[in-house]
Amino acid sequence: MSFTKKYNLKMVIALTLLPLIGFIGTAFYIFYNGIVWQEPLLLLFFWFFSGLGITMGYHRLFAHKSYATIPFIEWILMILGSLALENTILKWASDHRQHHDKAETEDDPYSIKEGFWHAHIGWILKNTPKEKSKIRGVRDLQNKSAIRFQNKYYFYIAIILGFIIPFIIGLSYNRPIGALLWAGFLRITLVHHATFFINSLCHYFGKRTYDFNSTARDSWFVSLFTFGEGYHNYHHKFQWDYRNGVTWFSFDPSKWIINTLSIFKLVKNLKKAGENMINESQLQSVKDHLDYVLSRSNKVYKEFYCKKISLLENNANNILLEWNKMEIKYNQILKGSSDINKNILSNMNRRRKEYKKQIREIKSTFSKIIAMIDKECLEPKLAV
Ligand SMILES: [Zn+2]
Ligand SMILES: [Zn+2]
Repeated sequence: MSFTKKYNLKMVIALTLLPLIGFIGTAFYIFYNGIVWQEPLLLLFFWFFSGLGITMGYHRLFAHKSYATIPFIEWILMILGSLALENTILKWASDHRQHHDKAETEDDPYSIKEGFWHAHIGWILKNTPKEKSKIRGVRDLQNKSAIRFQNKYYFYIAIILGFIIPFIIGLSYNRPIGALLWAGFLRITLVHHATFFINSLCHYFGKRTYDFNSTARDSWFVSLFTFGEGYHNYHHKFQWDYRNGVTWFSFDPSKWIINTLSIFKLVKNLKKAGENMINESQLQSVKDHLDYVLSRSNKVYKEFYCKKISLLENNANNILLEWNKMEIKYNQILKGSSDINKNILSNMNRRRKEYKKQIREIKSTFSKIIAMIDKECLEPKLAV
């Protein structure tokens, strides 16, 4: 197939020129004119806000509806997201919902099964059949005022706020080209490739703590420059959760900002997976890993460890059943009456900790069995 048939020339030119001007243009500018403090600061400022428009706005609010907010915040996030030049919310959310619903199939627009390059940027550069690239599954978003406005004026918002405003700010300290290069071209290149790395790198390297069978991976490293979006294995498992980094020490600034806004009642209905669900997914992921290792190993190991594994599995099922029942009760109590019995709740908290500990122990035994099979060892302590 010829190059022009395979690739969308306009996209190839745009996505080549942006990083070329962003990196080489800025490097030349620095070489001849040096750096002033305003420019890295402008880069960080525009990067932070346009990146947040994508993670908090396009992704977690519009594509996944993992929380709700007032129209004013929807407008702000729409404007910030437009600055990232990643197309309109409708197109972005349509592609992204497909990515989750049809993950790793032919209908996944950025399926990793078609290779790292395709998932990173190739899918944007290639000519896609009209039927495949049409906007679908986003009717719920179409009538929002911010989105209707963006559909009409997307390029104006992106060009005026993403390029002309930095240029004008640059005029105030007599380096308009410097400001345009740093906060315009270089910043957009960084925002673009940070987002693209989630679709490529986070389906390639990292841990599969919550779903062993998914290609999505958790990468704290990618989270550092994507405002928390690197915990992609968790995100694919619980795509409706407003958090991507679920532990308290996970670097997820988008989550922190949503939490802060919720204190001021500016966002509401924050969706969150329960601890029982998270622990269950972690355990299932290790069990799936164990099944995978067993399926590839000598049947001697299967026979040696099988009793222990099925015993642990039964125990885990019983614990999770009890835990799930307790959480349903817990939620009923919280919703039900204004007069909440603190003793019952603290007793539930204690039981929750106990369930968590027991599941952690079972998970750790599964991991030990995996390690033993990897080392080709038969460990009597791990057999019944
Ligand atoms: Zn993904
Ligand atoms: Zn998502």
